[in-house]
Amino acid sequence: MPSEFTGKHVTVAGLGVSGVPAAKVLHGLGARVTVVNDGDDERSRAQAAQLEALGVTVRLGDGTASDSGSAAGLPEGTELIVTAPGWKPTHPLFTAAEQAGVPVWGDVELAWRLRGLDGRKPAPWLAVTGTNGKTTTVQMLASILKAAGLRTAAVGNIGVSLLDAVTGEEEYDVLAVELSSYQLHWAPSLRAHSATVLNLAPDHLDWHGSMEAYVADKGRIYEGNRVACVYNVADKATEDLVRAADVEEGCRAVGFTLGTPGPSQLGVVEGLLVDRAFVEDRHKNAQELAEVSDVNPPAPHNIANALAAAGLARAFGVSAAAVRDGLRAFTPDAHRIAHVADVDGVSYVDDSKATNTHATEASLAAYESIVWIAGGLAKGATFDELVAGAAKRLRGAVLIGADRALIREALARHAPEVPVVDLDRTDTGAMLQAVQEARRLARPGDTVLLAPACASMDMFTNYNQRGDAFAQAVRELGA
Ligand code: ADP
Repeated sequence: MPSEFTGKHVTVAGLGVSGVPAAKVLHGLGARVTVVNDGDDERSRAQAAQLEALGVTVRLGDGTASDSGSAAGLPEGTELIVTAPGWKPTHPLFTAAEQAGVPVWGDVELAWRLRGLDGRKPAPWLAVTGTNGKTTTVQMLASILKAAGLRTAAVGNIGVSLLDAVTGEEEYDVLAVELSSYQLHWAPSLRAHSATVLNLAPDHLDWHGSMEAYVADKGRIYEGNRVACVYNVADKATEDLVRAADVEEGCRAVGFTLGTPGPSQLGVVEGLLVDRAFVEDRHKNAQELAEVSDVNPPAPHNIANALAAAGLARAFGVSAAAVRDGLRAFTPDAHRIAHVADVDGVSYVDDSKATNTHATEASLAAYESIVWIAGGLAKGATFDELVAGAAKRLRGAVLIGADRALIREALARHAPEVPVVDLDRTDTGAMLQAVQEARRLARPGDTVLLAPACASMDMFTNYNQRGDAFAQAVRELGA
């Protein structure tokens, strides 16, 4: 069947998780596809060989894709670029595209445009972004939608890729879509049914160029929303983005709050999650959705995630009972505030996924008395605000990793009375020693919390391995 892509010259920027499927889909639609990729390693060559066998042209390491400014320019005749989300907007390829008037789409934009191409009714998207909590919220949302009997999947940055979801065999009633700021940057025509920005804190600023640019890209998620723009009452910047968005007639701004909800908000009243937005006469009425204890784990930031997920589900017409059932059925992914064990009355919690200060702030706010294990690669972060905010709740701190001095100095400035153990080793036994030191500092009733506020790659392959090392060390303590 001919499509708008038949015979079109499309350049796909970057092989890999989004580039290879994009090239295949476009080729299948009759486009003339050229893939450019900077790397020329074994993996790239294998991927290139696979695509070339289909008839796709692949240019590996010829400078077109290079970030150095020595670009060989746009491949001849390019009418459209489809880029991997990670490519920086300042890349010479995009400068050349702009000069030539060639549009640039990301994988999300491509998926959005391909919806319904096979004649099926396109599934609406309920979209989630934010600095932290995206994956958790999207998974909670998918769980709620499933509990409502809807055919759905958590897609985007996690699980099923968006391209697969819109072009695959499986039919969906609605999709729970996680979107990163990069993906939003390259998705100009995306129009979600309803969407949320969970929170905003500085992140990926080297890519976006400034906080303003980062926030503006996040805000694109609200553009063209049809039913609800769900924002965080405690984070005014998210509400400002709703105000600035150009939405469909009748689309509502709906807030979520950990306090008592006002009209058009979801919130918490006496241990219950409550909806005062999607009820009749919201000035007088509220609908109980679930108990706070139905949220796993019931840490404040996670209750906020649950309220955001509930807001999107309710915007889609899901019942209160399905919200409760979906939240009860949800279990968080590993290393996100995962309770590992209790040893001698001390609780050990793995939040290895807290790789930045904003996530760690939420984690530290969830416990009363903490022995904090932190450190790793700081990625340019500063720790003063984080430490000052948590100082009262710190029983002690154990610091690991390359940039631990930055945290030690912040502790000295804002929490000088808190005992600190500074571990000057990065070998595989370091985590066991960190856990032993934490045990020494802890008293019954305390929580030993791994929430590093840093990336893990100085000592571990990734945050999963770091969390596993922590859990293993805790098991050795208990043995
Ligand atoms: P993302 O997909 O945005 O990276 P995740 O759901 O994987 O988010 O959670 C990442 C980390 O962020 C977790 O370690 C958790 O402690 C923290 N976190 C989760 N939700 C929130 C939130 N609403 N606010 C702040 N931090 C959060």
